[in-house]
Amino acid sequence: MDWLLLLLAGILAATLGWLAWRHALLRRRLKDYHAALRLVAEEQRPPSDLPADVPGLEDLTNTVKTLALAQAVQTSSLEAERVRLAAVLEQMTDGVLIANSSGRIQFVNPAAERLFNVSESLGRSVVEVLRHHKLVETWQRCQQSGQPQEESAELPHQRAFLQLVALPDRQTGGSLLLVHDLTRIRRLESVRRDFISNVSHELRTPLASLKALTETLRDGALEDPQAAPRFLERIETEVDALTQMAQELLDLSRIESGQGTLEFDRVDPSRLLEAAAERMRAQAERAGLALTVVETAGLPEVRADRGRLEQVLVNLIHNAVKFTPPGGSVILSASAEGRSVRFSVRDTGVGIAEEDLERIFERFFKSDRARSGGGTGLGLSISRHIVEAHGGRIWAESQEGRGSTFFFTVPVF
Ligand code: ADP
Repeated sequence: MDWLLLLLAGILAATLGWLAWRHALLRRRLKDYHAALRLVAEEQRPPSDLPADVPGLEDLTNTVKTLALAQAVQTSSLEAERVRLAAVLEQMTDGVLIANSSGRIQFVNPAAERLFNVSESLGRSVVEVLRHHKLVETWQRCQQSGQPQEESAELPHQRAFLQLVALPDRQTGGSLLLVHDLTRIRRLESVRRDFISNVSHELRTPLASLKALTETLRDGALEDPQAAPRFLERIETEVDALTQMAQELLDLSRIESGQGTLEFDRVDPSRLLEAAAERMRAQAERAGLALTVVETAGLPEVRADRGRLEQVLVNLIHNAVKFTPPGGSVILSASAEGRSVRFSVRDTGVGIAEEDLERIFERFFKSDRARSGGGTGLGLSISRHIVEAHGGRIWAESQEGRGSTFFFTVPVF
């Protein structure tokens, strides 16, 4: 009997030992699984690294794999979104800044740094970056009131006119600052205002003359056989000046609005100079001037709208004739200059003061000397537009009392 009991005890001990060993093994595997799962959760390991030999945990492993896959998809779509947003903010021409509740810059895009002419502004204070008291006060008002605020200001150093919109971020207590550059719009507005006031000013003078002339005629000069034709002649001159101005204004507005599209062709520079000189020869002779074209054969053809470019030359010759006393000369020439041809119109006239040289191409600009004479001050402005539309450049060199030379370039065909 004893041996039976002994056998049973042996079997029991062996079974218990085996069970204990199994349990210990399972515990170790679970521990390993747990450690591997932690690494997967911390994204240092892929879910495929989870031990596959832990009985009963296959479903858990599969679920973890599915979850990891879903998370990877979500992360990559979030990342794509982030990259897109970063690209938009990077490329935007408007400035964007984010400040925290204590006014430290947490985000800034390149446009904002360019507009405020600052660099490395992350972590700096809003006051340091905006630097303009009106804009800083706008941000402060937004912080205090929790309401959106808007303000525009001119930054004298950058010669820029900026609009700031400050929006509160209720979650963080900070604010989002949007900056629009209104410099160009403001400049255009002022150009338009100047233009209207110039046009009305230029119209007033001939209209006042016409009014005075007709009144004088009505008050008796009409009956005076000597005075009447003189008055009529002056009326005609004023009407011609008004007509010319209307025509030039129309030309200018067509060119500026891009309506007067150019028709490019191969144009021979010498023939162009000859054609313009021919048109102006009679006028030059009447003014007692010698108009000559320097020999320019062999120049490459330029890419030009023949009619428009001839108009530029005629404008320049017309001015040369107008501002050169009798006995002087006007010389036309052209020469090759890189991939362009440089045309020139030189005169021996009154010249242009140095301080006026920059301004003569502006609309309505007339030097003091030219004020009393005819002319609208639009001719050079039209010429500049035409030359620039050809891809060229126009400028003048002059010495007062010693004549002027106007140059313009046109690319070769
Ligand atoms: P306008 O001749 O009708 O006044 P422009 O735009 O052609 O208008 O010229 C602008 C101004 O530039 C002129 O009023 C004159 O003061 C100056 N200017 C232009 N060409 C010459 C020149 N060849 N010599 C001297 N001054 C010139």
